Amino acid sequence: MAVYHEAARDIPVYAECDILVVGAGAAGQAAALAAARAGAKNIILLERYGYMGGDATGGYVVMLPNLSWRNKSFVRGIQEEWFTRSAKEFPGSVLAPSLDEIGSTDPALLHRWRAIHDCVSRGTFGGCKESMLVRAPYFDPQYMRIVFDEMIYEERDRIQLLYHSWGVTPIVENKVIKGVIFESKEGRKAILAKQVIDATGDGDIYCQSGAEFQTLADAVCRSSTTSLVYRIGGINWDNYYEWQLAHPDVVPAFKEGLMKVAGFRILPLPTNDNTVCWMNNWHTNRDCSNVKDLTDTEVNTRLTIDKVIQYMREAVPVAFRNAYLYDIAPQAGVRCSRRLQGEYIMHTDDFAFAKKHDDVIAWHSTICQINDCGPVEIPLGAITAKGCENLLAPGRHLSADNIAIDWLNLIPQCTGTGQAAGVAAAVAVLDGTDIHHVNVKKVQDILAGEQDVPLPRNEHTDKSYTDLVEEFEYGLYTDAAKKAKAEGEEYVKGFRQDTNYKTGENESLKN
Ligand SMILES: Cc1cc2nc3c(=O)[nH]c(=O)nc-3n(C[C@H](O)[C@H](O)[C@H](O)COP(=O)(O)OP(=O)(O)OC[C@H]3O[C@@H](n4cnc5c(N)ncnc54)[C@H](O)[C@@H]3O)c2cc1C
Repeated sequence: MAVYHEAARDIPVYAECDILVVGAGAAGQAAALAAARAGAKNIILLERYGYMGGDATGGYVVMLPNLSWRNKSFVRGIQEEWFTRSAKEFPGSVLAPSLDEIGSTDPALLHRWRAIHDCVSRGTFGGCKESMLVRAPYFDPQYMRIVFDEMIYEERDRIQLLYHSWGVTPIVENKVIKGVIFESKEGRKAILAKQVIDATGDGDIYCQSGAEFQTLADAVCRSSTTSLVYRIGGINWDNYYEWQLAHPDVVPAFKEGLMKVAGFRILPLPTNDNTVCWMNNWHTNRDCSNVKDLTDTEVNTRLTIDKVIQYMREAVPVAFRNAYLYDIAPQAGVRCSRRLQGEYIMHTDDFAFAKKHDDVIAWHSTICQINDCGPVEIPLGAITAKGCENLLAPGRHLSADNIAIDWLNLIPQCTGTGQAAGVAAAVAVLDGTDIHHVNVKKVQDILAGEQDVPLPRNEHTDKSYTDLVEEFEYGLYTDAAKKAKAEGEEYVKGFRQDTNYKTGENESLKN
């Protein structure tokens, strides 16, 4: 490749702060907010677009799976606050079984929620035969952007929000990060910081900082797919659900047809509105840190939208007769590109053996079916950079191996690790330590205490949480978990029933 030598030059220092968060997606928004609430005073939140939320509000990823397991909500804190605030301020903007209903096996309730994907546990995997209600919220992405602005604006004395600002290069001296250079309409400027949180999702900052990282996961993983979500209006989701029940023999052909028309895997999913669905899609083996892959994803999707809608109108008129293009997400859907190789790398045995971590900062129910979607411990080490001091990396680019990344880069885990990163950075700044020597117990106490994040072995978390996981053996009654125990950890390598546990290969992503 030809090279051009860019001359060195002096640039203005825009600001000096205690904590700089780069990227205001689920992880970054939570990080800035949690840091402010933990007492940090001088925080800057930098975002390249003009709204917060990233994939969630800009990529129209409008549902979160498995905030609860059995009758307990494990993913709480800022994540739960999204929905309580949005539902209160904007009635109808959130659709989900309520916190009171989770774990219910009441047939009438199950019947009511069954049409809404993932609100009823699948209940057929491994040893768990019961279906139960699950807190899996669907939300309106436009209202959620307003909620995010409000949450940050409430902390405006502590958080300076800078939209339309792109973090481009870390400032690193002697393996310690000192700030970030950013670009905007004002040109190229520097922000100096004591702690930096890279929440760009693609490790834009850590990949240039000397921190260890890996690149795109295996092509067979869900994480190695890009998308451009769009929404279709004028539909009747209930009718679509009933049609699927009445025509089980035709449904596979309908879904196959969708894929043929589009040229990539694509599926309608419900939203908070019965007359609108979102079209989730998976362009395989595309890296969302590669501009050509991103461009192809945008163009390939848009060029097929009209054909897909026409096909749906004709194939299932009872649901889609009046379907029309409602809107296209303003940004491409990005699942994963770079992954941190941090102080700890999350692995399948974290799920298959319910591994315990002294530095646990999130205890999340997830989509992993090995442990029946039960809670897994995520340690601070999984978001702490190795090779560069004072740099945290929560969100979809956290430290996980090829397979575990598919269970950990969902919105709840991004928000949860973001919240923890914010608290850890705040404690480090207030105590005057570097991040590797942060007082972990203090971080855990703030999270589990005033910030409403359940953590294992912490006195602020109700004992009933531990009782539940012990009673149900950490969800490790599944066939996959039993096999893992019998055959050793190498066996367990899958994330769905259509995944080859030996190779990680996923049948439904082949096209
Ligand atoms: C199509 C699709 C379907 C999915 N389905 C689900 C689902 O059903 N449920 C679920 O929970 N999860 C789902 N996911 C995963 C989930 O949406 C994401 O992993 C999660 O939202 C990522 O959050 P994040 O904050 O880590 O990253 P992002 O949402 O990517 O946020 C990163 C933020 O940083 C900003 N940014 C990036 N680079 C820079 C920079 N250099 N300078 C300044 N700002 C920058 C971005 O604009 C963005 O706001 C899906 C993802 C996709 C794409």
